[in-house]
Amino acid sequence: MKRLALGVLVALIVGAATSWVFGQRLIGERAFNAAVEARAGVDQTAELRDGLHVFVCGSGSPFPDADRAGPCLAVLAGRDGYIFDVGSGSDRKLGAMGFPMDRIEATFLTHLHSDHFDGLGALMLQAWMAGGRNEPLPIYGPEGTDRVVDGLMTAYAIDRGYRIAHHGPEVARPSGFGGATTNIDESFTFERNGLSIRTLRVDHAPIDNAYAFRLDYKGRSAVISGDLKYSEKFARFAQGADVILHEALNPDMVGKIGATLAARGNTDGAKIMADIPDYHTSPEDAARIAQIAGAKALVLYHLVPAPPARLIEAAFLGDARQHFEGQLELAEDGMLISLPAQNQKVEMDQLL
Ligand SMILES: [Zn+2]
Ligand SMILES: [Zn+2]
Repeated sequence: MKRLALGVLVALIVGAATSWVFGQRLIGERAFNAAVEARAGVDQTAELRDGLHVFVCGSGSPFPDADRAGPCLAVLAGRDGYIFDVGSGSDRKLGAMGFPMDRIEATFLTHLHSDHFDGLGALMLQAWMAGGRNEPLPIYGPEGTDRVVDGLMTAYAIDRGYRIAHHGPEVARPSGFGGATTNIDESFTFERNGLSIRTLRVDHAPIDNAYAFRLDYKGRSAVISGDLKYSEKFARFAQGADVILHEALNPDMVGKIGATLAARGNTDGAKIMADIPDYHTSPEDAARIAQIAGAKALVLYHLVPAPPARLIEAAFLGDARQHFEGQLELAEDGMLISLPAQNQKVEMDQLL
């Protein structure tokens, strides 16, 4: 009798465990299928109203960061997609945010510090394969961009062959591989379907060719600083912008890192920390710029060092809020800033 009871108990436990495992698997399969149903082949941006939409695909800097990709801002002007800088890991953020790879009209590089194009090879591949391109991705950047793109295309040439061999030239269209480069200068302008882009040379010495971009579309405007030191010329360029996306470096925090490295004998690291504040902008100065420009909103990105937790954000910002009357935000990867056409609203959302 005792043995029978034990057998029943074991059978019950095995049965419960089996159904628990099976139930888990069933729940997992249903969740996965629902996610595929909701996302695969679905335009995640279909609901966006006509306007200028800025996707933060990388809010970080060259500093290692598990949460933030290197600098990257993607823009939808109406239906057309544009990318401004492509930092390390940013192509993955674009995919996760549902940015339409098949509608990227062009990519722009603010300057050729490598942290601003570390992800360009991956983006060109995504634009080609996921975007189904027939022509190379147009890439506009400072003098030297052609060398960068040529080098990346050489690096990806073997992979190009694999893709064509595996999927066939009807899918991996050979003509759509890589980038078509145009080197730009300060006189560069771009007009398409109501979007106009203007260019400003900024001071990021010793980098000679560093640019900011201003985008105007149907009465709305977004200005992208790239990397630069405090500049009232940039403030004039950004005059009346709905949103300024400005880089920011906190010199006290970078100084603290440098002093700590020096105390521990890492003199090279300490020297780099001592060098970098002079060609970037502090959060307070970025706020001053936004105030002079009369911008509605200021979003700081390319954060050095990026605050690892919300608790540290106020320390990163310092007195910045006192210098700008508009809306001031620290960017996070996945942030969406929407400027609906012919409207005054600045809407912010978080997609990741
Ligand atoms: Zn940078
Ligand atoms: Zn730079």
